[in-house]
Amino acid sequence: MKRILITGGAGFLGSHLCEHYLAKGCSVIAVDNLLTGDLSNIAHLMADSRFSFIKADVTNYLHVAGKLDMVMHFASPASPVDYARWPIPTLKVGALGTHKALGLAKDKGAMFALASTSEVYGDPEVNPQPETYWGNVNPIGPRGVYDEAKRFAEALTMAYHRSHGMPVKIARIFNTYGPRMRRDDGRAVPNFITQALAGKPVTVYGDGTQTRSLTFVSDLVDGIDRLVRSKITGPVNIGNPREMTLLEIAQTVKKLTRSRSKLVFKKLPVDDPKVRRPDISLAENALGWSPKVPFEQGLPRTIAFFRKTS
Ligand code: UDP
Repeated sequence: MKRILITGGAGFLGSHLCEHYLAKGCSVIAVDNLLTGDLSNIAHLMADSRFSFIKADVTNYLHVAGKLDMVMHFASPASPVDYARWPIPTLKVGALGTHKALGLAKDKGAMFALASTSEVYGDPEVNPQPETYWGNVNPIGPRGVYDEAKRFAEALTMAYHRSHGMPVKIARIFNTYGPRMRRDDGRAVPNFITQALAGKPVTVYGDGTQTRSLTFVSDLVDGIDRLVRSKITGPVNIGNPREMTLLEIAQTVKKLTRSRSKLVFKKLPVDDPKVRRPDISLAENALGWSPKVPFEQGLPRTIAFFRKTS
């Protein structure tokens, strides 16, 4: 992989991927419309002559000069609060954006890597979720704009693979946290950290018994990198199989920030999945990947980022 284009390159995951591939000696083009991404995430890369940034919306025709070895489509609003705020851009970037990014990869003879999501499993009726599970998604609910866009993106990616023989990779990304998350993206980890650091009430939705499995961003990047270097197409679950209740997550944040904030219980959002945990047998067997960073180590690094940028 020598020259890589990353959509959503100024976002949380995209910026970590830019950094990773630059460190490996690749040239990287980050494309972002800065709807939820931020230039501060890539400011430290701008001086590198192998890095360039294009402000563009990938739902429109996208072309760059020269050869590309890989197109990684990571652009999308990705938190429930963000996709509730921008439902149509979310549908467009998952559908039209995937189409444009696939078209670019096809034109360049490049590999295509799709950031899919555990949300394709919706509110799952099996736990943990293997890749063979088809999911339980409400297409017309508030989360449907993200879930269905990503399901369509997977379908389109496989259609390009089957019709055009393109090399494609699909990663189903489970809840990921780490430095460069936006403090106001509404997700549990940034909400809990900012609330705990400010001594404000920590908002647990529902009774806090719902579960999530949290992956530190460096593990995620490693999983994606192994996937694109592997022979398999996927979809592959990339996530940490340690399942925690939201109550446990909130209490751990309180403990590690040494916060005296109270926990307050708020209404559970519509269609909020009750459980989520990846079955990572495929990633373990086919990629030799498993997460390395426990929550107790990743969380302090995330807290340090929020302290530094507050
Ligand atoms: N959540 C919470 N308090 C918050 C934000 C989120 O209890 O301030 C809950 C939310 O209802 C969900 C879980 O945390 O059950 C994870 O939510 P997040 O928005 O991080 O991502 P999701 O996994 O739902 O996409």
